[in-house]
Amino acid sequence: MRPIAGIFANYRTKSFWLDHAATGYAESPALEGLVRADVLVIGGGLTGVSTAYHLKLAEPSLRVALLEAEVVGYGASGRHAGFIAPVIGLPLSLMTARFGAQRTLEARRYAEHACAYAAQVIQTNRLASEYEACDYLQVAATPAQRRRALQEVEFAHRLGILAVDWIEATPLRALIDSPTYLGAKREHGAALLNPARFTREIKRLAVAHGVEIYEHSPVIQLDFGPVIRAQTPRGAVEADYCALAINAYAVQFPPLRSKQCPLHFYAVATEPLTPAQRNSLGWHDRQALSDTRALPHEYRLTADDRILVAGGDARYIAGNQTGMYSSARVFEDLAIFIDQTFPSLRGIPITHQWGWVASATADLTPALGFVSGDRRVVYSVGNLEHNAALSLLNGRVLSDLLLERKTDLTDVFFVKRATIPLPPEPARSIIIHAALSILRARDALDERRGLGDPAIRGA
Ligand SMILES: Cc1cc2nc3c(=O)[nH]c(=O)nc-3n(C[C@H](O)[C@H](O)[C@H](O)COP(=O)(O)OP(=O)(O)OC[C@H]3O[C@@H](n4cnc5c(N)ncnc54)[C@H](O)[C@@H]3O)c2cc1C
Repeated sequence: MRPIAGIFANYRTKSFWLDHAATGYAESPALEGLVRADVLVIGGGLTGVSTAYHLKLAEPSLRVALLEAEVVGYGASGRHAGFIAPVIGLPLSLMTARFGAQRTLEARRYAEHACAYAAQVIQTNRLASEYEACDYLQVAATPAQRRRALQEVEFAHRLGILAVDWIEATPLRALIDSPTYLGAKREHGAALLNPARFTREIKRLAVAHGVEIYEHSPVIQLDFGPVIRAQTPRGAVEADYCALAINAYAVQFPPLRSKQCPLHFYAVATEPLTPAQRNSLGWHDRQALSDTRALPHEYRLTADDRILVAGGDARYIAGNQTGMYSSARVFEDLAIFIDQTFPSLRGIPITHQWGWVASATADLTPALGFVSGDRRVVYSVGNLEHNAALSLLNGRVLSDLLLERKTDLTDVFFVKRATIPLPPEPARSIIIHAALSILRARDALDERRGLGDPAIRGA
């Protein structure tokens, strides 16, 4: 396993969230010497700290040690947009085509359960995560997007999913004033939070339940002998069980390499809006927003009223690279997206721009299970969704798998499922780049006549 070098000493620059979650954050020490544990968790993202927390919740006598290469929340968990929405993987119609209606409903119920469970954990434990309940609107900005979004609403209703409805253009613009809006699919039961704070609050809970967390401790060698042994630069952990909660970084680990690929995504945040700018948009219910592109933008207001936009494009770097956290082209596109969507904010200064790496399986659906059939070692990959709650619930499922607890959650189809293997290079690059080009081409075709209603935007 090639370690992640501690290149970025100053984590504040890694994302808007890590910048804001830095104040008062007490880093845990790096591992020194040998630690003997019952369970080793590798990865200090939300999936990892959640796995460790749920193991202690279920079996307080267990000795659980967690190794994080950098700091908790360093990966995608401290960088994404902080949405919680009852969505998972592919749009419902595509998921049904891939897995059938029954499994699509299973996945949907899992995502809904994840949203409710996250709210419960946050409220019960009074977690300081800037949690705010809201609706999630998937906005259509072109006639083709409008057609597809409407079909998704009808499809949801046919599946019996009723917490979804359609908002026409005029009432939508009364909620949020953008000339690009042609209507929106609305998901009720969503929320927004500060993903870095949320991940670190779950860390705080885990530590309070007795989990030993070691930061700045990249696993550089991992052996699955009679005793599982993870080597770090200045220490080692020996354990009977192991959870690999490293998501996109799982490419380091050969048995998981064919299950997923690391895709880079980017985000920007503006300076805080003035009250006048704020009022010019409406957006009083602070909905979580995305568009219905093949490569969607997701955007929101932060707690201090900045506009944060993420997504819009994705990059795969040949050789499964995981550290390309900057893209001038995508940062520029995201700034242009803000100007197009909210012309009254044209040219608003961007204060933060960052990237992260997320994990994509071949069918864009999560996969959890045992590594190579070894019931001592579990993994989670493919969490690509706008749903922080998924990583929290996935952690609980990994804990249940290690404790051999059969639950409704461990019976969901993407747990212990076989994944479509992704080939090694160079075929991997050819396939992924072809797929991304097709998605970009569809978006370009959709947007060839501009966004929104020409009559409204004065084309
Ligand atoms: C465009 C886009 C938008 C998204 N928006 C959202 C959103 O709004 N809400 C949401 O919840 N999710 C969102 N996601 C998904 C989200 O990014 C991830 O799925 C999720 O955060 C994964 O969490 P994790 O804990 O599994 O992985 P990570 O947070 O990536 O954690 C993995 C950890 O493992 C550590 N690690 C790696 N290698 C080693 C090693 N050798 N030794 C020790 N530690 C190691 C890393 O440093 C890292 O901290 C989005 C994804 C995309 C692509």
